[in-house]
Amino acid sequence: MDSQAIQDDQKLIADQKLRLRRSLMAVGAGFANSLVVLVAWQLGYVFFSVESLLAYFAISSLGYALFPWLIHTNKNLSRSDPSLTGLQIGWQLLMVLVCMYVAPGVRELLIVNFLLILLFAVFRYHPKHLPILSFLLLCSYMLVILAQVIWSPVVVHWQHELITSLVFVLGLIGVSLLGVEIGSLRVALKRRNEHLALLTAKNEQLAVTDDLTGLYNRRHLMRILRRQKSLSDRGGYQFSIGFIDLDFFKQVNDTYGHAAGDAALIAVAKEINRSLRDVDYVARIGGEEFVVVLSQTDYAEALRIAERLRADIAQLEINLGEGQPAIALTASLGIATYRPTETINDLIHRGDSAAYAAKNCGRNCIVGEEELPEALLNKTALDEVAVSDVALAMEPATD
Ligand code: GH3
Ligand code: MG
Ligand code: MG
Repeated sequence: MDSQAIQDDQKLIADQKLRLRRSLMAVGAGFANSLVVLVAWQLGYVFFSVESLLAYFAISSLGYALFPWLIHTNKNLSRSDPSLTGLQIGWQLLMVLVCMYVAPGVRELLIVNFLLILLFAVFRYHPKHLPILSFLLLCSYMLVILAQVIWSPVVVHWQHELITSLVFVLGLIGVSLLGVEIGSLRVALKRRNEHLALLTAKNEQLAVTDDLTGLYNRRHLMRILRRQKSLSDRGGYQFSIGFIDLDFFKQVNDTYGHAAGDAALIAVAKEINRSLRDVDYVARIGGEEFVVVLSQTDYAEALRIAERLRADIAQLEINLGEGQPAIALTASLGIATYRPTETINDLIHRGDSAAYAAKNCGRNCIVGEEELPEALLNKTALDEVAVSDVALAMEPATD
């Protein structure tokens, strides 16, 4: 699984946890409401029969339990709004309206639930939707009063209702305004988080890439090698590395200038990338030196890939612009295959020694670790060793 998939998974788990917590809070509010209805019923404010009351408790509990269950079992994820906010608000509102209708004596007190619903919406909806929701809540409250006037045995005192509705409207306006503030902060925070995530992704990209060529850098190469090593140490997996050092690159700089050298490095980097398979990796580890990591590749296959790389680089024509001559380059390559449980440094050392040997047997050639004489295994391209020492010891692997 790549790091992006892991991040997506972690975000999904965090989102689901948050949704579950909010849904459980709504369940708490629902049960508190039911408790109020029960007390009101005991005190004679509710005109429900015991059977109706029990039916109400059963239905509302089922509804309240449904949402956390949907989230817990990830069934909410297939919905266009996985937070289920709209449905939860709808259910909560319906239950509050039923309570208001059957308990006219405490109807005004239950208005506090509307404010809770509004706050619940603040965390999900855009601030501009809050006034619409407030209006909907007010209308539904009016409908309850109307229903009571028509169907219930209660006498409605209009002056009293007017004052209550006025306070309700003021409360709604207050919470809406507060909600708009909170919502705006939430939107700004979300934007900032997205911006931060973008910057972090950019930084992560910069941290693993080489500025000039856009290839992986040395640090990331070590990470790739560690991953390949752990795969291989588990058994049944082989990988190889190839050290690529451009030949006489200093002359390119000296003849055409440093900018032309840079352009040549970019062109070679592109060519190596093009020539490799999708499963392989390439890093620039310094100056004109590259390392390729050939996944799922044994020694013989690595030599074949190296030959293809060598030929592709040699055939590359690097155009420096109009009126400028095209540059041709060659590279010397050293190949080594990982031996399970050895250290990465050991592998790198053999690859580097092989590249050093390739340099010394004429350049534009490939040397595999198996062709290295014992003495050379202790030398690397960075070592100062007389070319003749090695040239005598080696025969080129290609050419
Ligand atoms: P050899 O065949 O032995 O590898 O010879 P070489 O000239 O390629 O090797 P040497 O190590 O003597 O020189 C490497 C040159 O690469 C020296 C330096 O000027 C050049 N170089 C290193 N990094 C960069 C870079 O980022 N841009 C450019 N343009 N040149 C670079
Ligand atoms: Mg070099
Ligand atoms: Mg070189």
